[in-house]
Amino acid sequence: SYRKGGYHAVRVADHFAGGRYIAQRKLGWGQFSTVWLAYDTTTSSYVALKIQKSAAEFVQAAIHEIDVLLSIADGDPSNSKFVVQLIDHFKHTGPNGQHQCMVLEFLGDSLLRLIRYNRYKGLPLNKVREICKYVLIGLDYLHSELGIIHTDLKPENILLLSTIDHSKDPFRSGGSPILERPEGNTNGGITSLIEKRLRRRARTAVAKISGRTASIEGREAAKSSRNINGVDMRCKIVDFGNACWADKQFAEEIQTRQYRAPEVILKSGYSFSVDMWSFASIVFELATGDMLFTPKGGQGFSEDEDHLALMMELLGKMPRKIATSGAMSKDYFDRHGDLKRIRRLKYLPLDKLLIDKYKFSANDAREFSAFLLPLFDFAPEKRPTARQCLQHPWLNCKESTPNEMRNESTVEKVNVGMSNLKIKVGK
Ligand code: ADP
Ligand code: MG
Repeated sequence: SYRKGGYHAVRVADHFAGGRYIAQRKLGWGQFSTVWLAYDTTTSSYVALKIQKSAAEFVQAAIHEIDVLLSIADGDPSNSKFVVQLIDHFKHTGPNGQHQCMVLEFLGDSLLRLIRYNRYKGLPLNKVREICKYVLIGLDYLHSELGIIHTDLKPENILLLSTIDHSKDPFRSGGSPILERPEGNTNGGITSLIEKRLRRRARTAVAKISGRTASIEGREAAKSSRNINGVDMRCKIVDFGNACWADKQFAEEIQTRQYRAPEVILKSGYSFSVDMWSFASIVFELATGDMLFTPKGGQGFSEDEDHLALMMELLGKMPRKIATSGAMSKDYFDRHGDLKRIRRLKYLPLDKLLIDKYKFSANDAREFSAFLLPLFDFAPEKRPTARQCLQHPWLNCKESTPNEMRNESTVEKVNVGMSNLKIKVGK
């Protein structure tokens, strides 16, 4: 992908925007971009530099993303809405073409990494509640103040706030930032010693951000669910590459599969409530360590059909009117609103799943389900808004069974996925 139209190859200490930003190390990458930690010489602080691929379609996408980010920053001058802030943007010409660049505030680890550090066991419910509050404030801002639908909410796209002092180098203890290219670093920096050292520091920093003080590898991970206690769970919504205004939509197929709402699968039209469906799926994942729905195509049925079946096994039968109202409905449902090719669904309600598989107490399961289930309403317009969710009593309840107790007893997760019980029905 490092060719004409593709990514821009960055080396440690490369300069951008006439020398204002100096690349420090790679933070991450996506389909369209690489993201680097950079030192901002104007403000003496660290920023995230998102460098888009240079082909025309990526340039278009970046211009759109900048447009969305500008309106986000415009409406939130005090930076208090838990949505990532755009600091600057410019174009950078390199050997692969001209790249749109976005300068964003530097944030910490993603919720996906947090879930991984916790060894997919689920976070303590009090932590989940905290994360929920920040994400909901962000969503309420996007939805009700700006009219923006994110359309790709998932754990990777929610980043913890870095607790590091931005005036200091986050990856060096007391050292100064890299202002000049290190000598002899001529191979693109990929294997150079300094890169390796920076990477090691970065890993440690990332572990610190998520409440870990030691190396993330090895048996230390086992203690992580205890270590994250006492850590501020503030977080922000990022990645507006696919966002749209509710009244200016362009994509029909939106959202990452596991977080996709039923109306998107059925092509019945969508609005802000698709983000609420993804939000609820993320909350389940935070609390249990497992994705809620992981559909797979099988013999005689597609991934979409499996997905609809999994939804109904957990949430009950989809009302006939809703099941039959989308452009895809005829492919999947008969006129009674039953799936054509997947029969005999094995129903397992959410509270029972939480108790049986994840060892929730009956009380925790009931309260948590009461928060989540309205968000999984098959009727999009009946799902609570972000603002309504913020009022939910579950967000403000204090006591929950400490999750070490839950986790100790979850020796082996029982597979309750019912895909293997599905019966193929010939056409
Ligand atoms: P894409 O649109 O290409 O998916 P993203 O905006 O999702 O790009 O960024 C890709 C990755 O870069 C993220 O998953 C994250 O690891 C990292 N990243 C993005 N923005 C920031 C930021 N503001 N601070 C720190 N890391 C970031
Ligand atoms: Mg992304």
